[in-house]
Amino acid sequence: MWFQIFNKSKRSLEEHRKLISIRLEAIGGQGANSAGKIIAEAAVLGMHFTGNHFSSFGSEKRGTPVRSFVRFSPGKQTIRSASYISKPDLVVVFHESLLTKHLEIFDGVHAQTDLIVNTHLKPDQITVPEGCQFRRIMTLDATSIANNNECGLNAVMLGACSMFLNEIDSEVLEKTLLKFFSRLPEKIQKNNQNGFQQGMNKFNECRFEKSQANAQKQTQTLPLMGYLNAPIGGTIINPGNSVLKDNSASRKGVAPKFLKEICFNCGLCDMVCPDFCFVWEKKENAAPTLLGIDYQYCKGCQKCVVACPVEALIPTLEKEIPEEQKKLHVFPQADKDLIRQKWTHADWSQVVSELSNESRMLTLQTELLDAKSYLRPNLINNSETTSSTTPTTEKKKGDL
Ligand code: SF4
Ligand code: SF4
Repeated sequence: MWFQIFNKSKRSLEEHRKLISIRLEAIGGQGANSAGKIIAEAAVLGMHFTGNHFSSFGSEKRGTPVRSFVRFSPGKQTIRSASYISKPDLVVVFHESLLTKHLEIFDGVHAQTDLIVNTHLKPDQITVPEGCQFRRIMTLDATSIANNNECGLNAVMLGACSMFLNEIDSEVLEKTLLKFFSRLPEKIQKNNQNGFQQGMNKFNECRFEKSQANAQKQTQTLPLMGYLNAPIGGTIINPGNSVLKDNSASRKGVAPKFLKEICFNCGLCDMVCPDFCFVWEKKENAAPTLLGIDYQYCKGCQKCVVACPVEALIPTLEKEIPEEQKKLHVFPQADKDLIRQKWTHADWSQVVSELSNESRMLTLQTELLDAKSYLRPNLINNSETTSSTTPTTEKKKGDL
């Protein structure tokens, strides 16, 4: 075995550090913001350190990536920075799909960074991009633990964090967690406590090996749209652009599994679904038949599960949803690979002619996004670096 299992007594692991920076990487709804607040409260109010915390919610929609940042100093040094943490000492990943779909979670990691991942995989099965280094990796199946205990995922992840945070007493962190959720029913508080305890005990840990950083380094293939080159007024000029994004991890690790043989097509599930995820087959002179769920948009809220009168929708761990059921889509699917591949080639008229009718509209929209005429004129030179091959404005206007 290439890795060494450590003694799980955290006191033996390391000396105390002067300043600790923590980055929590999660999907909206997993409780990373609350977890960050709890760590900061435990450090500042419980341990009397200096510290701060804030979160970044992206589009502030439940289901999109959320980042939470905590800094604290046992040495009580003044913490002036309240900005994004670019060199984390601890990275906590609440959803394993972030490891492959959002590689920015590896930004700034270094040889002294610890990594905690919610996954059913062992630490040596995790692959990280070339060039990344860690000190230690811990994995635990926090989703299953949270489901079994009917507690928040963040309670379990906090239990795991306490094993890598020597500076904060585990009891203080646990008490802060209970106080934070003290308005919830007693049963839920008890469940959170159980989840926290199991997070402390049910994990796998290893020291990182450089040979583990063998995942191919990926580069961004779409143009970077940011504050420097965004359209004036922040206008979204490519409607329907979410089709190009992979939102399939947008849930808490649990999604409804559809049992077609039980369903009698009453439509109640569709009436309560906040994201219109249900896919129906419409037939002439016959009632529509429910085919299943578009998991690209399902966020796992379970409202449909509650509404279904015959239990044709069962809450299931995301990884156990049959692959066959994941292929249903509400909207026509753009040929994403072709679009991404062609993005680097400037001949858009050829791209459009090769695409299916459904994809063609999407491509025209993404082409608009790339047009220099929509960028701030004084920043056009800046945008050159973000898109390697952009056709000239004149040609684009003529084409459209
Ligand atoms: S769990 Fe059900 S109700 Fe909630 S988003 Fe998914 S399909 Fe819709
Ligand atoms: S509520 Fe249940 S029975 Fe009714 S359509 Fe939805 S899955 Fe089928």
